[in-house]
Amino acid sequence: MAETVKSGLIFCSKFTEVLVETHYSHSHNFKLSIIGLPDTSVKESKDRIISAFRALGIKLTGELIVNLSPSDLKKDGTALDLPIAVSLLNKIKGNLEEEIFDSVLLGELGLDGSVKACNSVLLVFVAAFLSNKRKFILPDSFRKEISSLPIKDCDIWFINNLKELFQTPKFECVSYSGSIEYSPHEQFKLLASMSPLVQHAVILSLVGGHSMLLIGPPGQGKTFTANLISKLLPPLNSNEILENYLYYSLAGEDYSSILKGSRPFRSPHHSATKAAMIGGGVKGRPGEATLANNGVLFLDELGEFNRSTLDSLRVPIETKKVKLARANYVVDLPADFLLICATNPCPCGYFGSRKNSCRCSFTEVKKYLSKFSGPFLERIDIHVFVDGDGFKNDCSLRFDFERILECRQAQIEKFGDLIAKLDGKFVLDYCRNIIPKVISLTTSTRSLIKCLKLALTNSFLDGRVSLNEEDFYTVKKFRRLENILEPFFVK
Ligand SMILES: [Zn+2]
Repeated sequence: MAETVKSGLIFCSKFTEVLVETHYSHSHNFKLSIIGLPDTSVKESKDRIISAFRALGIKLTGELIVNLSPSDLKKDGTALDLPIAVSLLNKIKGNLEEEIFDSVLLGELGLDGSVKACNSVLLVFVAAFLSNKRKFILPDSFRKEISSLPIKDCDIWFINNLKELFQTPKFECVSYSGSIEYSPHEQFKLLASMSPLVQHAVILSLVGGHSMLLIGPPGQGKTFTANLISKLLPPLNSNEILENYLYYSLAGEDYSSILKGSRPFRSPHHSATKAAMIGGGVKGRPGEATLANNGVLFLDELGEFNRSTLDSLRVPIETKKVKLARANYVVDLPADFLLICATNPCPCGYFGSRKNSCRCSFTEVKKYLSKFSGPFLERIDIHVFVDGDGFKNDCSLRFDFERILECRQAQIEKFGDLIAKLDGKFVLDYCRNIIPKVISLTTSTRSLIKCLKLALTNSFLDGRVSLNEEDFYTVKKFRRLENILEPFFVK
């Protein structure tokens, strides 16, 4: 007969399995102890369980020790009531169905033996599902909430009362039947209001997943452009929705748009600290980088951000992960976001503007732009000057939206991922024929790889799967701040 009951909790924003086992020894005096670092809420479950058992007509006797393992991990929340009660029932009565022990059990107990929902149950359930757990025993009151989540092929036995566990298990296969709304065509037409250069940059970003820096005077639609990109990206898939739902819930953020499949759009204020950006704290909470996972991280007024905050994003940009290491934990959280930054070109904001004249000296402009750390800027694929002045709403669109979706699909079929996310070594090898012709145009290997990736995306847009010199020259103009501002310097 099985001895351990499976349950779990969230530690560092991830599911951690907790195994519950009970030891019984004969004694005239009844004693129940729970060990394995329980906090107050778990210790109190003792009284709820004793009372619930009394309501069911079960008398506890002897000396009972409940162990929660891993025993060096602090246990909190009331969701462990149900697994502890089942472990005790199994020890005392021993006639429970085997299927119960294959499942993950979560639920709070009422004094009358009822199984109740508590805040943590739903989140632990989602985290466990994301860790490939597919069999659960949960409070019946969660039926409605769970039906609103994109859960597929999961066996759940919903129970109202502890006594139902003595009956034949009634697992139901829960599969989400809703669909996700996605109608970006109207939004896509808004791109027509942008200059051909910005349009090209936005399309490259959408097609290949390339990060972007928008430079330009205030009020030229930089924020609008970043927001538009998040709306044009294909909707989240089921697993991405659950992942983002979990992190948003843990951070206390509104997740209603996530459940509709919209990509996250995070726009932290420039006063955000390093901890707010990458997460951490005692419990390994997700930061903006993880909240923007599968979506867009938009840094407006890039020059105003603290340099160490920006530098903390350098590794996540490359690895798509945030590594948090504290005294009591080391954890990797996902941070696969599309980075879009925006900045004014100079202190007054009007350098290069066709409408207002800039009051700054050449030296002031240079000094302003030198605020950004070189290594950080080098990690941004596309640099583009945004100046809405002079462009009317009649610029035609170079591509239709279907073409963008086709190009994304073509890359995934050919490489397994979007071009921006491909390994640098792979890209160098894939493009080895062109490298001798273009290597003199770049300053570092990282810069060469970025240019090759952008050029490769450009070739996909053109319906080819390998790049030529022309692609390289086309995208070179998107690579360096100086290149972008050069026309204005000579004016
Ligand atoms: Zn200026």
